[in-house]
Amino acid sequence: MIVHRAAWVVPIAGPVMRDGWVGVEAGRIVASGSSTAPAGVEAAPPFDHGACAILPALVNAHTHLELSYMRGLVPPATSFDAWVRALISLRAKYPDPLAADIIQAIRHAIGEARAAGTGVIGDITNTLVSARMLHDAGMPAHVFHEVLGFRVADGTQTLAAARRRIDAVREIEPGVRMSLAPHAPYSVSPALFLSIAGEMPDAITSIHLGESPEEVHFLLHGGGPIQSALESLGAWNPDWTPPRCGPVEYIEKFGLLSERLLAVHGVQLSYRELAQLASAGATLVTCPRSNRWVGAGSPPVDQFYASGVRVAIGTDSLASVEDLNLFSEMAQIRALGADIPARAIVESATRIGAEALGFGEDYGTIEPGKRAALIAVRVPDGVDDVEEYLVSGIRPADIGWLNEPWPPPESRAPSPEPRRH
Ligand SMILES: [Zn+2]
Repeated sequence: MIVHRAAWVVPIAGPVMRDGWVGVEAGRIVASGSSTAPAGVEAAPPFDHGACAILPALVNAHTHLELSYMRGLVPPATSFDAWVRALISLRAKYPDPLAADIIQAIRHAIGEARAAGTGVIGDITNTLVSARMLHDAGMPAHVFHEVLGFRVADGTQTLAAARRRIDAVREIEPGVRMSLAPHAPYSVSPALFLSIAGEMPDAITSIHLGESPEEVHFLLHGGGPIQSALESLGAWNPDWTPPRCGPVEYIEKFGLLSERLLAVHGVQLSYRELAQLASAGATLVTCPRSNRWVGAGSPPVDQFYASGVRVAIGTDSLASVEDLNLFSEMAQIRALGADIPARAIVESATRIGAEALGFGEDYGTIEPGKRAALIAVRVPDGVDDVEEYLVSGIRPADIGWLNEPWPPPESRAPSPEPRRH
């Protein structure tokens, strides 16, 4: 057994331990504790990480790796509508999902996420290109194959095509798992929603929900910028009538509201809707830096936590965020919600995300039996509250993986070719 020692161990499954240790054998955690190690553990040669906090690898519950090539190309917008239009016109210039620069950007993004301490990813993809790349990089992931079609009157063909794409890369499971995900209430027809819900009734799924004021307006009244956008894309269905309800109530009609759902964003959801997600056991995935970038506003993170809904954290794609560093996302939650306990934010970035993505058995906490996907964060002198420090914004230079040389040389750049761990 290898014993990792550090000034702090943040197990998530229990309180922070000062002068803690984690025992690892054959890639799994076998024990952990504070300074008084049980007999047998002391005998093992300790690997002392010094003034660091050991914690489980982070879980990025929502990103779109295939958009990584858009980094810096879609400027921040004052309205969601304007941002989406800019994204769509840029995407039209890159019709080949296997173009070399797209592939290279995905590979680099995975490596950068790992260098920032991310050990599990929830990825949304239209093309499934990222799925095999996540597998090849040794990055555990749940890949949501996103389905769209507002004019689709019968979802059979759309779903058959999606199923074929998934079946073509089945061999990457179970390290990378796949299921279907409807894009959003305004981009999926009622028939397609029902088909998706019926296709994989036991699978986890994800949807962008309550992201923008435009979405809420569209569901309540119809019209507005979303209808205009659908019309200009040739995707509008003149027979569609607004359901005159909120986003949560709308997707409930299609049987999507369950403990298998990751509802992403929720910026515009009311407290009552958040409580509805909570009582269904769904997970809300917040991506606050992206919300600001795309003009959707600031998420009511205080309400998220107060409502009792399970909160996970995502970065969203590099089209709407500077980097895939989940620590930066935690810092943004702290900036928006000064009263949220730091422990709850760190738990969102680890255990809650792992459980929502179906990886809770192996990741998300430091507990016997779980995989030793552990990171160490350098903690400066004078820090008393290490959980608060972890949500203050941690740079990749201060993050290392326990199975890699530590501390990393200051000069080490994020590896474009992530290694297995
Ligand atoms: Zn998204």
